[in-house]
Amino acid sequence: MSKDIEKVECLIIGSGPAGYTAAIYTSRADIKTVVYQGMTPGGQLTMKTEVENFPGYPEGVMGVDMMEDLKKQAQRFGTDVRWGVATKADLSARPFKVTIDDDKEILAESLIIATGASARWLGLESEKKFSGSGVSACATCDGYFYKGLDVAVVGGGDTACEEASFLSKLCNKVYLIHRRDKLRATIAMQNRVFNSKNIEVIWNHIPKEITGDETVKGAILENVKTKEEKTIDIQGFFVAIGHTPNSHIFKGQLDMDETGYINTPPGSTKTSVEGVFAAGDVQDNVYRQAITAAGSGCMAAIETEKFLTDPGD
Ligand code: NDP
Repeated sequence: MSKDIEKVECLIIGSGPAGYTAAIYTSRADIKTVVYQGMTPGGQLTMKTEVENFPGYPEGVMGVDMMEDLKKQAQRFGTDVRWGVATKADLSARPFKVTIDDDKEILAESLIIATGASARWLGLESEKKFSGSGVSACATCDGYFYKGLDVAVVGGGDTACEEASFLSKLCNKVYLIHRRDKLRATIAMQNRVFNSKNIEVIWNHIPKEITGDETVKGAILENVKTKEEKTIDIQGFFVAIGHTPNSHIFKGQLDMDETGYINTPPGSTKTSVEGVFAAGDVQDNVYRQAITAAGSGCMAAIETEKFLTDPGD
């Protein structure tokens, strides 16, 4: 049976702030734009409750509502927003071939990859149970809700240390739980943790369970060496054990760092393939904010417009 094939001027994969912002700009520039929403329509923000740090919402906004607004704004300018997950890509020649749901083939004159990144989780049942009601993977997004309370951060890298340090300014007490006796984070970041009076590092421990009823009340930790268990009383539990960029279908075709983040030069969203741009968390392992993703979506759209007008430029 022959595959369903369609030509598209600008294909955007991903529907977080980067994807929709790119779509608003390309559609407004009269470029025929199709967005495939991906596995999580609306992106990571739809898994959060309230977003308080996106400019323009003085009272805060529900993540789901904000993403619906961005979608409607893109549709207003003609973006064709569709359900579907990009399952395969061939970037060896233009138009680029992208397969959706292992079935439909899109031939794209230009491609904006805005597939985001997924937070890694510990895999505990209780982690799922309290997701959005005490468990979070983003202190910058959710830390404010724990003002004056006791919280825990899991991890020993730069993210965990940065989150612990951020939370220490808001919270009464921060436990940093690390599975080894040495942090992976850079020395500067480690020093921030060690110099904070209200951060206590719990070395050589892993969380076994998060406890509570409606909301988080504590955590059971296991010493990885002695297997002894201890409990801590906390109201917030932050997981900071890394993110995985959703770039696997482009592996071997685009320059990436060793963890899969797509390489783009500073101040640009250009990838190693001309006509392919990457925006948002799939190319940013430092800021990872909705507003920075939206900003890079805008950059990708402007670079796409320039590319389509004059591909050789
Ligand atoms: P990392 O991969 O650097 O660190 C992950 C941490 O989580 C490690 O300490 C690891 O332990 C721990 N971990 C992993 N899996 C588990 C698990 N199942 N249970 C318990 N602990 C676990 O990720 P980051 O997100 O911290 O950083 C990613 C990249 O982004 C790094 O290159 C970092 O430097 C960069 N970054 C830079 C920042 C900055 O410059 N401001 C801020 C944030 C990130 P172990 O050490 O034992 O492996």
